[in-house]
Amino acid sequence: MSDRIETVEIDDAGERLAHRATPAYQTHEGVYTRGVSGFFQNIRLYAGFFLLGLYFLLPWLNWGDRQLIWFDLPSRQFHIFAATFWPQDLMLLSWLLIICAFGLFFVTVFGGRVWCGFTCPQTVWTQIFMWAERFTEGERHTRIKLDKQPMSVGKARKKIAKHTIWFGVAWATGFTFVAYFIPARELVIDHWTGQASTGAYLWIGLFTLATYVNAGYMREKVCIHMCPYARFQSVMFDQDTLTVAYDYNRGEPRGHRKRDAEATHQGDCIDCGLCVQVCPTGIDIRDGLQYECIQCALCIDACDSVMDKMNTERGLVRYATEHELNGGTTHWLRPRLLGYGAAMAIMVVAFGYAITHRSPLDANIKRDRGALFHETKSGAIENTYTLTVFNKTSFNEVYEVNLAGRPGAKLIGPETLELAPGQTKVAVYQIQMDPDLIIQSRLPVEFLIEPAKEPAHTLSVESTFIGPDRWN
Ligand code: SF4
Ligand code: SF4
Repeated sequence: MSDRIETVEIDDAGERLAHRATPAYQTHEGVYTRGVSGFFQNIRLYAGFFLLGLYFLLPWLNWGDRQLIWFDLPSRQFHIFAATFWPQDLMLLSWLLIICAFGLFFVTVFGGRVWCGFTCPQTVWTQIFMWAERFTEGERHTRIKLDKQPMSVGKARKKIAKHTIWFGVAWATGFTFVAYFIPARELVIDHWTGQASTGAYLWIGLFTLATYVNAGYMREKVCIHMCPYARFQSVMFDQDTLTVAYDYNRGEPRGHRKRDAEATHQGDCIDCGLCVQVCPTGIDIRDGLQYECIQCALCIDACDSVMDKMNTERGLVRYATEHELNGGTTHWLRPRLLGYGAAMAIMVVAFGYAITHRSPLDANIKRDRGALFHETKSGAIENTYTLTVFNKTSFNEVYEVNLAGRPGAKLIGPETLELAPGQTKVAVYQIQMDPDLIIQSRLPVEFLIEPAKEPAHTLSVESTFIGPDRWN
């Protein structure tokens, strides 16, 4: 493989306008990407706008009198729409992460690195930074020329404009991130009046810096050298996975030809190098599937535009499976894909059930282990218990505590417990039973904790009542 790419400019009539040679893979000099428009670039733009819109807008929306999504760390409450989650719900988060992982496996087996190319934050933010670069410094060749020039007023003006936009986007990203933890409306005032906490400034600064460096300078290097997903993706690919691919049989032997030229021994690739110039990771898709490829499909748009100018059918570079490229048939429904899909569907249903049937309170009961039982002056047998109740709702709640299924047994202790949102209360109870009712030395007992506002969520906790061992 040559380390230089012959780059050709083509006009609308398919004629060559300019011809230059640039490095094929430009890690040392930086990757100067060229702007491109087309079907996949539009999808990337719309997906990017949608995701960025969500990210920047959500902290400003309210649910009732609180922020719609608010990770309130000091109170250990996580508000997401109407639901409030507590550290006790951590298991649900683990399930959510497992579902996301299976979702990623499923999508990757089917369509390769779609996540990387279209929705990964690294890709989306890099896109904005690249747009700022083109807006302030011009297209690819202008930028290469500008970087080679000595510093001048004009160059400094362009560089300052670019870095100002970069910094603005990076700061907005850092600020928004912290606004998920500290209500945005408070933070925006405190932040500008110097009254925000040191932690808030620190995290905003850290995220601003991380965004600036990652999207401005690291870019494809994050995907190539730092992201673990890029490394294990090949394990998930098979010969029926859709990937961005160059149709070698159709394109080779590559070389210049005129538009509408008669079919010759030559392939459809005119070796213009456009697919390389638009590639954000600086690779040549014609060298085959490479782990650097994030499957953004920009080379498809670039090549399709060339094919249009050459009056040749689109799709020399396209989404294709290995089977299809080798003239075989693609097997869309295959065990691995179905397996991931089924596992994901089952987990989504189970997760949905767990979320919708989540109890708004937590409780546990512990029998006093210091004494087996105690005989009262009236001759009753008494056991002591410690009941812990936790209010998982976001409002004050009163809980009525009763004993179930033990007629004749007497429960001594607070009849009701009032708890603030997120509060835990511990109360001591005694159960007294007439010795005649104790038909065996260990009897199961059940405490019912009934929330006044949501009686349907009454919770039962079980323990044991121990009496004299008269039956052995
Ligand atoms: S080779 Fe094509 S799909 Fe892969 S990263 Fe480069 S432009 Fe994107
Ligand atoms: S694959 Fe398409 S874009 Fe790439 S060099 Fe060949 S004709 Fe040009």
